[in-house]
Amino acid sequence: MDTITPTNLQERDKAVNWHPYTQMKTADNIIPIVKGKGLYLFDNEGKKYMDVVSSWWVTLHGHSHPYIAQRIFEQLNTLEQVIFAGFTHEPATQLSERLLKLLPANQDKVFYSDNGSTAVEVALKMCIQYAHNQGKEKTKILAFKNAYHGDTFGAMSVSGKSYWTKPFESRLFEVVFIDTPNADNLQNLQSQIKDIADEVACFIYEPLVQGAAGMLMYNAEDLDSLMKFCREQEILMIQDEVFTGFGRTGRLFAANYLTEQPDIMCFSKGLTGGTMPMGITTCSKAIYEAFWSDDKYKTLFHGHSFTANPLACTAALASMELLLKEETQMNIKRISQQHSAFVKVLAAHPQVENARQIGTILAFDFKTGHGTSYFNEIGKQLYNEFLKRGIIMRPLGNVMYLVPPYCATSEELDFVYRNILEVLEEFIG
Ligand SMILES: *Cc1c(COP(=O)(O)O)cnc(C)c1O
Repeated sequence: MDTITPTNLQERDKAVNWHPYTQMKTADNIIPIVKGKGLYLFDNEGKKYMDVVSSWWVTLHGHSHPYIAQRIFEQLNTLEQVIFAGFTHEPATQLSERLLKLLPANQDKVFYSDNGSTAVEVALKMCIQYAHNQGKEKTKILAFKNAYHGDTFGAMSVSGKSYWTKPFESRLFEVVFIDTPNADNLQNLQSQIKDIADEVACFIYEPLVQGAAGMLMYNAEDLDSLMKFCREQEILMIQDEVFTGFGRTGRLFAANYLTEQPDIMCFSKGLTGGTMPMGITTCSKAIYEAFWSDDKYKTLFHGHSFTANPLACTAALASMELLLKEETQMNIKRISQQHSAFVKVLAAHPQVENARQIGTILAFDFKTGHGTSYFNEIGKQLYNEFLKRGIIMRPLGNVMYLVPPYCATSEELDFVYRNILEVLEEFIG
């Protein structure tokens, strides 16, 4: 038998695994990770990496958190999974109760699925069928240009068009894309929406930060105005908080910056503290009531094998407990303040454009003066340079960003900032 050790993991990986968003032919640097602890990931040779991207924006309290691990272990020994049609359990019910208390007051019911994309699919289905159940067919959906809502077909449809979605374009449904709001374009957006309002099933948006588009940020007041207008036009609103939820923006949810309330909200990523896959779609009473009927055809016919998996629900409960602790809230505040001071340093840097920050999310554009394809090369070099320094930074196009877990200390952040400035100097010219 072959010996199975982490040392030959790279070759074994290449023989059998197909990695996400990866051109396997030209991929290099697939790093075998054998352990995670707090902010750090450890490779097979004992080298450690600061995971300042929270492993694709999911980790909240650091890797292998002992409290979450213990809670999952206990649940695993009690009830690992049960069909959620016709049955219920404490972890799901408790999670729904607790989550709803933290959300805008109109959020009333919780629907479980497996990830961010499925949370979005469920939300879209709720809106389309909401109209259908009332004898209306609404064929259009509104979304922002550059949006990202996931990789399944519905989620791809409402995401901005790019070379990622290109091969599937003819199979995606009709979506009207509008600009994110600002003080100057609001009137214009309103008239665009007004023209088609009757045909619009819903408006889906990432509140305040368009993550995958490159951490593009926009103003809460302007979003509020747009939401208010949609409310007047009776357009349902889906607020996709898959990325912004659970403290990333400095507040528990981006919703906490807004006075208007969405009809539906989507969660995943930080939901379980980044330990287990799970998606949640919450909705208002009005949405729920459009499905409440003696007519079985008005049922929301959607479900997943692992709907409300007890282990994932328990992980989410444990993570939420940690998140609401005074200590964690102080950490979020501390990271936000530290980021906000560093953003001023970045803003003055000749190699940097659009330094920006909200809460624990910090981003800036790396000024190249050349085209995007040129940046793709530099992007790779930057990624490798940071790896060499023991820091995981994955540029999005020419955007560099930090989304650290809340356990990152001031010293660790300072170390990362220092390295960013050093690398910028190195890459000048
Ligand atoms: C990542 C992301 C998704 C998709 O979530 P997955 O779990 O990767 O399917 C949806 N919406 C937003 C805003 C995201 O950032």
